[in-house]
This record gives sequence, C-alpha cells and structure tokens, in this order.
Amino acid sequence: MFRKILSCQRTFSTSGISYQSLLNARIENDKFVVLENSQEKLKFPGIWLRDNCQCGSCFDKNTQSRKIDWENFPKDVKIDSIESNSNNLNIKWSDDHKSSFDYDWLKKRDFSKTSQNTYLSKYYRPKYKSWNKEGFEKIRSSYFDYNDIIHNDEALKDWLESLAVYGVTFIKNNPKDKNVARKLIDRIGFIRQTTYGEEYIVKARPDATNQAYLSNKLQMHSDLPYYEYTPGVNLLHYLVQTKTNGGSNLLVDGFYVADLMRREHPEHYKLLTETVVDWNDIASENGVPFHNIYRAPVICLDMEGNCRRVNFSTPQRDTHFNVDVNIVPDWYDALRKFIEIVYKEAVHFKNNEGDVLCFNNIRLLHGRTGYDDTDTNVRYVIGAFIDWDIIYSKLRVLKNAKYN
Ligand SMILES: [Zn+2]
Repeated sequence: MFRKILSCQRTFSTSGISYQSLLNARIENDKFVVLENSQEKLKFPGIWLRDNCQCGSCFDKNTQSRKIDWENFPKDVKIDSIESNSNNLNIKWSDDHKSSFDYDWLKKRDFSKTSQNTYLSKYYRPKYKSWNKEGFEKIRSSYFDYNDIIHNDEALKDWLESLAVYGVTFIKNNPKDKNVARKLIDRIGFIRQTTYGEEYIVKARPDATNQAYLSNKLQMHSDLPYYEYTPGVNLLHYLVQTKTNGGSNLLVDGFYVADLMRREHPEHYKLLTETVVDWNDIASENGVPFHNIYRAPVICLDMEGNCRRVNFSTPQRDTHFNVDVNIVPDWYDALRKFIEIVYKEAVHFKNNEGDVLCFNNIRLLHGRTGYDDTDTNVRYVIGAFIDWDIIYSKLRVLKNAKYN
C-alpha cells in the first residue's frame, strides 16, 4: 500500500493571525489523520473526512450542503494513502474515491477542545454573562441608538451581541411611531407571532382576558412559558409612559438566580431543575378560544448542566400537577426560596417615554408595579417577540460567516 507522508509549508490566516506552520501528515491507527508540528496537532477521524469530502459528487457548493446519500455510504472504506502539499491534504480512499481538503478549512474544524470552545462561544452562540443589581446599572447606561441600529450593520451586530451576552438591552432616540418595535425586528428578521397576534398593546383594557392587560401589579414572570417554542426575545416600546409613580419595571437575570440557588440551596435547585411543571393558558383572543399547555421545570438545563431556559409565571401555572405526590410539599419550599431570591435580586427602574426595552424571555423574569389608569394618565406599550434562531442567524451573517 502506498502511503506517502510529507511535510508541508503552510501559512494559516484564521482569526486574522497569520503564522508559518510546518505540518507533518500521517495516518494513525487506520482511523485518523494527524497533522502535526512542534506547536500544534490537528487530528481528524477518517470517516469524518470521507463524510465531509468536498468534491463535486459529495458536496454541493451552491447550496453549501452534503450530497452524499448515507443509505449507500461505503461501509468499510479506509484511507489508502495521504499526500500533502502546500495548500491541501489529499486523500485516496480504498474504493478509489479521492478527496482534497484545504488546510484553512480543516483548521476551522479542528477537533481540539480549545478550538471547539472558541467556535461555540464566538460563533455558535455568544457565551452569556450573568448579572446582578450592580452589573445592571452598567448595562442600562450602555444603551443603543435607534438610528444607528436601523442604518448601521456594525451597530446592529453590537446590539444583538449584547442581547445574547447580557439578555437585556435598552434603545433610545426612538421616533414617536407605533411601528418602532416592528422596524427594529425587521432589521433582524421577522416578528414571532403568538396567540396574541404580532404586535401586542399593553394598556389597561376593561375586558382583559390576560393579567398584562390590567393596570395592577404584575408578578415576576416569563412570557408564554406554556409554549414549547416559547418566544425568545421580548421587545417593548414605551410609546406613552404613565406620569405617576407606578408602572415601574422589575427585571431579574434568571440565570444569575439559578446559579445562586445551585451554590447556596442545592436541594431546592435540584427540585426546580427536575420537577416538571404544567404551564397553561386558557382564554380566547378575538373570539378564538385556545388552551395551551407545556410541561417543563422552572429551571431547564442543557446537556452540560448549564441553564438554558427559565419558565415562570404564577398565573399560568396549571392546577394540574402531574408529578409524584410525595415531592410536592418540598417542591413548594423550593419555589418559595426561588421567588424570595427573584425579588431580592430584582432591579427596579422606570423606562422613559419613548424607550425600548428588549430582553431574553427564556432567561430573564420581568414584572411591573401597579399604576393608576385614568383618562389623563395612560400607559401605552407596544410589544413584539422575535425568536433566538432568527437573532443568532443574523448575528452570524453580520460576522461574515468567518468560520465557514
Ligand atoms: Zn467526494
């Protein structure tokens, strides 16, 4: 069997840093290709290389997608030989298929933990930074400008990055226009429609079917926890703000609260992450009745045990509670502790008329103090949702698909 192992001189230019690299290419245990020099080692599984062959019959450059039909993927295909030149790693396979990989392309797909962490935190989704009362003041004073976001892609990118990292942003200098929420969301993608429509108006309504449409206090909550696909981001435009003391906002970083509970009240934390709660909403909007139910814990974790979503709304917690009867009393203790911390850590502030508040609805909890609603003292807020998929996608496009 012909196995040519060569060294190659190659200049990498990822992340804006260029450096010379002398790479030795070799096959390891018949299953891997290793590219190595004194500074680094890149290791790629043979089957992954074949699966990701970039030739015209395996990959369609126009649609940027794999053409390989895995039903007929060769089962025992092996690396026959490898050859490297200054730009590419060339592979000849045991079934005579040939693949060629550009080194920059391979480097961007390095399997090392460090490279993968960089990709995941810089490009997949920005790593979040949780905040408490002190941190919030800095976030609130670093507000964004409406015109910058509308006209400048760099400002749009900074806004979305900040929203992803901190979960809350403020926008000032908005026109006195009912379409501000829509125009901001149009810059990213499109409004996420819910049972309550596209844009929704938060003002006191005498015929209210939802607590948000009353002028009384709103307990801390997340919106629509009774959806599996709960809207990711809530954008609120304070078109008219009440002149009296009421109508203040309360916000808390649910990930900060969860982390605090994990450290200081581990038993309560465990119950809140493992006990599945029924969230529901029974009502009708414009004469159309609906009954939403979604079952999920208050604190949802991902595969690595990190917080991925917080669900919380007392009015929308179902009377049905489909869990082991014996854990219920302890779960209520955990819930009480959670609520105590939520209110202790919540920030209070009042948006100025014209401001936009935008926050991560699957991370933050929000609330409102009551206010007097009279003919001369009204509060008129226009809200709209947008999903994280759409935001992350826009953010990647604005970063010029650096990792592709
Ligand atoms: Zn191919």
